Amino acid sequence: AKASGKACYALFDTAMHLKAVARLDLETDLRQAIANQELQLNYQPISSLETGNIEGFEALVSWQHPQQGHVGPDAFLPVAEETGLIVPLGHWVLKEACMKLRQWQQTFPHAHSYFITVNLSSRELCHPDLVRHIQAVLSETQLTAHCLKLEITESTILDKSEFVLTRLAELQQLGIQLCIDDFGTGYSSLSYLQSFPINFLKVDRSFIHQLETKENLEIVRTILHLAETLDLEVVAEGVETINQLLQLRALNCQHGQGYFLARPLADAQIELLLEKEERW
Ligand code: C2E
Ligand code: CA
Ligand code: CA
Ligand code: CA
Repeated sequence: AKASGKACYALFDTAMHLKAVARLDLETDLRQAIANQELQLNYQPISSLETGNIEGFEALVSWQHPQQGHVGPDAFLPVAEETGLIVPLGHWVLKEACMKLRQWQQTFPHAHSYFITVNLSSRELCHPDLVRHIQAVLSETQLTAHCLKLEITESTILDKSEFVLTRLAELQQLGIQLCIDDFGTGYSSLSYLQSFPINFLKVDRSFIHQLETKENLEIVRTILHLAETLDLEVVAEGVETINQLLQLRALNCQHGQGYFLARPLADAQIELLLEKEERW
């Protein structure tokens, strides 16, 4: 028994070692990616469900790895978060996104009404320089604060303290709007929500995905009702079909995002879209 235990342990050890090496590679590569501008932002339109007009864009990071090709955020963000690389990565994302919207505003007059929304990880939210940094990026890129929204997942908010609450209030005081992302997955209570300085809820796409089922329909209806009571706006994410769109509209959900409305697009594609809108 002792021998087999030892063999098991050795095997486990090897697996751990391989995992650690793989992570080290990813970490080294990611470090280089940030320095070498291998990261790219795609922009997914968020639209009014009532009029169909674009209202803003969510910035989504992706990585063009020199050997492995396209790597999605779910593959590298956990490592970035664990190693702290999320902080320089997040800095890059924020600056790039603000710069881009500012550039669109200068090229297309109607783009002044658009917002850009950027995802903020737990680690970034807890960084002591967060507020100062965001303020610096806004002034450097000349973007008005009310054009910037920040998305924080429900789970990030749930396990955080007074400290986070204060940070969020400071951001809101700058004029930045705050959204709870993936809402509905974290079991926040009504009273809990009420204590948070937020402006938007993004209903997690798992609820939109099967809107046909009675349970999900009721959940979304309840979220919309709750949001109305708390004077929050709601974005439905993951809108993939016309049926989902029509159902959401019937429920008076104001905003939507998803493949049915538009995929995440590279900046050049967004520019074509904005040109077309201008000609209308
Ligand atoms: P998220 O914030 O919930 O972003 C929405 C994700 O859903 C994106 O995946 C988007 O491409 C995808 N999506 C959009 N419409 C649809 C749809 O109709 N159906 C389906 N099935 N999916 C749709 P993506 O780009 O792979 O990003 C995954 C997650 O990575 C994001 O989820 C977000 O949590 C995180 N993330 C992305 N960019 C950043 C970033 O710059 N910073 C941080 N901290 N996190 C980011
Ligand atoms: Ca998001
Ligand atoms: Ca989300
Ligand atoms: Ca998500």
